[in-house]
This record gives sequence, C-alpha cells and structure tokens, in this order.
Amino acid sequence: MELPFAESYKIKVIEPIHRSSRNEREQWIKKAHYNLFNLSSNQVYIDLLTDSGTGAMSDCQWSAMMLGDESYAGSSSYHILKETVKRITGFEHFLPTHQGRAAENVLFSALVKEGDVVPGNSHFDTTKGHIEYRKATAIDCTIDEAFDTTSTHPFKGNIDLEKLEKVLKEYPAERIPFIVVTVTCNTSGGQPVSMRNLREVSNLAKKYGIMVVYDSARFAENAYFIKRNEDGYKEMPVKQIVREMFSHADAMTMSSKKDGIVNMGGFIAMQDEELFNSASVYNILFEGFVTYGGMSGRDMNALAQGLEEGTEFDYLDTRIRQVAYLGEKLKSFNIPVQEPFGGHAIFVDALRFLPGLPREQFTAQTLAVELYLEAGVRGVEIGTLMADRDPVTRENRYPNLELVRLAIPRRVYTNNHMDVVAVALKNVYDRRDEIKKGFEIVSEAPIMRHFTVQLKRV
Ligand SMILES: *Cc1c(COP(=O)(O)O)cnc(C)c1O
Repeated sequence: MELPFAESYKIKVIEPIHRSSRNEREQWIKKAHYNLFNLSSNQVYIDLLTDSGTGAMSDCQWSAMMLGDESYAGSSSYHILKETVKRITGFEHFLPTHQGRAAENVLFSALVKEGDVVPGNSHFDTTKGHIEYRKATAIDCTIDEAFDTTSTHPFKGNIDLEKLEKVLKEYPAERIPFIVVTVTCNTSGGQPVSMRNLREVSNLAKKYGIMVVYDSARFAENAYFIKRNEDGYKEMPVKQIVREMFSHADAMTMSSKKDGIVNMGGFIAMQDEELFNSASVYNILFEGFVTYGGMSGRDMNALAQGLEEGTEFDYLDTRIRQVAYLGEKLKSFNIPVQEPFGGHAIFVDALRFLPGLPREQFTAQTLAVELYLEAGVRGVEIGTLMADRDPVTRENRYPNLELVRLAIPRRVYTNNHMDVVAVALKNVYDRRDEIKKGFEIVSEAPIMRHFTVQLKRV
C-alpha cells in the first residue's frame, strides 16, 4: 500500500482557538454590522480571511530572531538578508521595506510618472493603487482563460503576448516605465505564470527596451506550479526554478508576509545600480535607512530564514496540497469552486451556490456570513462589495464573479480544520434554498468600502 501524505513538520508551540455557539455568533456578527472585518479574532474559530502575515514561523526562524542585530546602519541582519536575497533571486541590489505596498511606493516613486501606462497581469489592488495615485494607468493583459471559471488552463496567470505587444506598440517607450508580472497572480485567484510565458514576456520587453518588474509575493508557490505542471521542470529543484524565473526580470517587489513566511516585511531587489541609487533616496525618505528600511534586525533575520524554508519543495508540497485538499473536499460535496485550485486559497463561486439570491443583496457576502454563522469560519467576499461603486455614476459595479475566498495561512491549520470548513460549507449548501435574502448597505466609505461597510438584513 502506498504511504499517505503527511505534513513535512511537527508542532512545537500551539495557540488555543475556541468554538462558539451559533447564538453567540448571531449576536457578534450583528454587532459587527455583518462585516467580517469588524469581528474580533477571538470570535472566529478558523480564520481564512487572508494568508498575508498570518503564517507560523519555524523554530529556526524564532531562534534567528534572538540573533537580530539592531544597529541603525550596516547590521549583520541586513547583510544576512541581503546575501539570502541575492542567493535566492540572483538580484545584485536589495532594499528592505516594511511591507509589499511600501516596496511598490518606493520603486514606483523612482519609475512611474503622470501619463504613464503599466501593462501587466491583473495588477494587485495596492499595485494598481500606487500606479493610479501617480496618475498613470494599469493595463490588464492577462489571458482570457483567467476569467473563465470552467477553464482548466494550468497557468491562468499568464500574460497574453498579443495584448501586451499591442500596448508596447501603441505607447512610446518613455511612457511605459515597466511591465509588471504578478507571480502568482493574486487577483485571478492565486494562478501561476509559466516559465515559458516569463521568458516570452522578457523577450518582448527587450525588443521594445522596457523593464520587467515582478510583483513577487508568492514567487515560491509559482515555482512549485512550474515544477509540477510545466514540461522540463519536474526534476529541477525549486530553488533553481526560482533563479530561472527571476533571471527573466529586471527588478522585483516583495510582500514578505506571503512566501517569506514572516508576519511583517517586504523588499525591493534589482540588477541595475542606477535604479538602486535612485530608489534608495525614496527608501530613506519613506521607509528608513537603506540597511533596515522599516524592519527591525530580528525581523530581517527571520525573513532570511523564511525565504530559505519557503523555497523548499517539502514545505511547498505540504502547503499547496493542503489548499487542494480543501478544494477536493468541497468538490466532493458538489460545492462550486474555481479550478484549477490556486496556491494560497480556494474560491467558492457564490453565484452558482446561491443562484436565487438577487445580486443587489450581495450574494458572496451573504454566503460568507452564512459560513461564519454555521461554524465560526471567516472567509472574505470578493464580489460586489469589494468591486465598489463606479466613481462617476456611483452605481454598484457588478464584477463577472461573485466569490468567497478561503485563504489558508501557512503552516497554521491541520487538515482536520479543513474538514470542519468543508462540512460547514456543505451544511450551508444543503440548506441553500432557505437562504432567500441577503443584505443592504446602512453606511459605506467613499472608496475601499468593503473594509468598513455596515450592513443590515434585507
Ligand atoms: C499582498 C500583496 C501586495 C501588497 O503587500 P502588503 O505586504 O500587503 O503591503 C502586493 N502584491 C501582491 C500580489 C500581494 O499579494
């Protein structure tokens, strides 16, 4: 008999979590105005709100923290992290920042100006925000398959080369500071980009003399998918795949809260010394001196260790198989989920789950609240609430998909927890015909309303 799969680590420290009664949850969610962001974490049993900064550090990371060097300039922690970033990514120059959007702020300050266009694959919202804040435009060049939930394309994060070349032809090179490639593509559901696509984007960029920047939060998960699903990479170690990926880029921004497996942190890395020098000025202005950039020495040590561990096959195999485990379990209950499963989350298709509910009553939010009421599981709505209103007409925007994202924190929950999540959703699914009413808005902020919106039952 083939031995079953099991986690590539054992547990040394635990944190108790508590179940609650349905009655308690009814009161808590009402008090939170049916907004899951307003719940206290102790009102949540299994928290799948995000995989960002919620991972569990290893014993080696915790011990590295004790060796942190808190010198203002030139600390040993900085040098350890710089060497690790160079070894893992191949980039010569490196700037620490306090998180991913800070890296974007610093690098884009050096590169993006009013009137520019930045093509890419479904830019992450902070990336888009930092482009639009500078009165530049993000142009989405993702392949069409990315938006088709029934397509099983293995690399739905890929850039459509024809769409990209059209942009490169249409605008002069001075107005295109760089192409951004998000690995894996968060916005299209944690979907990977193939090595072949990375190579082709690089070739096209070179032809037009444009830089390529990777938004790299989940670069290691992307490398894992290349190893698993792309011809020619089965036998290659993940670390070597990572080096090959970054060899096709000129620079990278990183949210270390994802594949760095730390709770806070980010960085920028690049080949070009001139770009490093100009970005350094903004780093000092916004983040801190170039050898700490908003991070304490101990956190830089933990990140260096996290980058080592996060690019090991056994860790990635454990992680991504756990995400797939939840996906398969939901599928076995006939619950409509997006496929192929992404690297960090499972997306439940709320329009197929609750087809009778009017979209004006926020279908995905209704499902997310029902899941919380059922078992204290917190997911997040990626639908009409998040899509917000049209800035001009102020009408609700209805995106193609109405999803509940179940993001899995790294090394935090066991598959028993995944079983609870799956059965909770099955129970909601079994009584889906009774869910006839959703929510209406009581109050909302002018932008990014989903974080603070207050709702009431219709
Ligand atoms: C999380 C994330 C960011 C922003 O990083 P923060 O650390 O949250 O500031 C940028 N891009 C992608 C793809 C991300 O997933």
